[in-house]
Amino acid sequence: MLTDVLHEQDEKQAELLRSILDCTSDGVVVVDKAGEVVLFNPAAAELIKIKEGERLGLRARVFLPEDETTPFPADELPSARAIRGEETSAVEVFLRNEYWPQGIYLSVSGRPLYDEDGRARGGVVSFHDITKYRQALAKAREAYADMLQFAHIAAHDLQSPLATISGFAGLLRAEYGDAVGDEGREYIGFLVDEAESASRKVEGLLTFSRVGTKGDEFTMSDLNEVLERVLRALAAEIKERGAVVTKGMLPVVRADEVQIERVLQNLMSNAMKFKPPEQFPVVHVSAKKEAGSWIICVADRGIGIEERFFDKAFYLLGRVQGGEDYPGDGIGLAVSKRIIERHGGRMWIESEVGVGSKFFFKLPE
Ligand code: ADP
Repeated sequence: MLTDVLHEQDEKQAELLRSILDCTSDGVVVVDKAGEVVLFNPAAAELIKIKEGERLGLRARVFLPEDETTPFPADELPSARAIRGEETSAVEVFLRNEYWPQGIYLSVSGRPLYDEDGRARGGVVSFHDITKYRQALAKAREAYADMLQFAHIAAHDLQSPLATISGFAGLLRAEYGDAVGDEGREYIGFLVDEAESASRKVEGLLTFSRVGTKGDEFTMSDLNEVLERVLRALAAEIKERGAVVTKGMLPVVRADEVQIERVLQNLMSNAMKFKPPEQFPVVHVSAKKEAGSWIICVADRGIGIEERFFDKAFYLLGRVQGGEDYPGDGIGLAVSKRIIERHGGRMWIESEVGVGSKFFFKLPE
């Protein structure tokens, strides 16, 4: 009697599971310990053309998405890893076979399956087609590269005329300053200041456009040493502002050391700059490990940024807080973010106005 009820419940659950799998748009395949397919849904049949009784991967020609020709290492596939007890998320693969002669990109995730006693009994993989997304991304990257090249050329061509304007304005002041009177000298002063500000912005644009093309090789870099160098470079400013700088243990990461030093230097000088005039800067640099990545945080107790300006702070030439107390050109954060992205990481802000800001960047371990 009881076994009948349990059996009925099992059947109902299996039926429910089957209807969920039938209508989900992700392909789902369950394999046993030997890699034999035990179950798959219609979306899987459509995407990888799998048939009843077939082994997973029989028709698949799976390649690395970067070059579309190097075979994806079989034991690194999410299905193989799931059988070994490993979880994977959103692994991108390129599939080309007789059904997909042009190839399709799939994003695949895998999870191990265990029986009631906790013994491995296979794995489940789910996947969906990301070809359109990859194509759109490739187009956007191309457009971005074109735009950067344009910015680079424009900035490069502006350097020389700007230097001429500022040079001659300086000469004008030195040689004819007395003749033009106070007002005239003031005008020349504006000219010199603006030409110099424009030159710095142009220089910033060039720096920004060079991040991807003029970077060094990645090496194992001890961020404790990198930060030491930054603090030495900023020693005069730290002293002058009476800043209190503390740090936790930082990791060794694979990075372009010159670029990472630049990031830390930008964040440190901002942390010291954006504080209320009557207050001395307090900055703490720390790191924590999270799911295969290091998260570095530069925290200050400065003026903070409103949440609606978080994105704008990272724009090239984007300034949120200006004026005499906070001079700058809006280059530092844009360059820093681009450097971190070149390292496969990301950068973000947490902040509260009047309390302080935390700038985070995440780097692969
Ligand atoms: P700059 O410092 O030259 O203005 P950045 O690109 O380094 O340029 O910063 C962009 C803007 O982000 C700054 O103008 C400022 O408004 C904001 N910002 C950056 N760091 C901080 C900080 N630690 N606290 C508050 N605001 C900040």
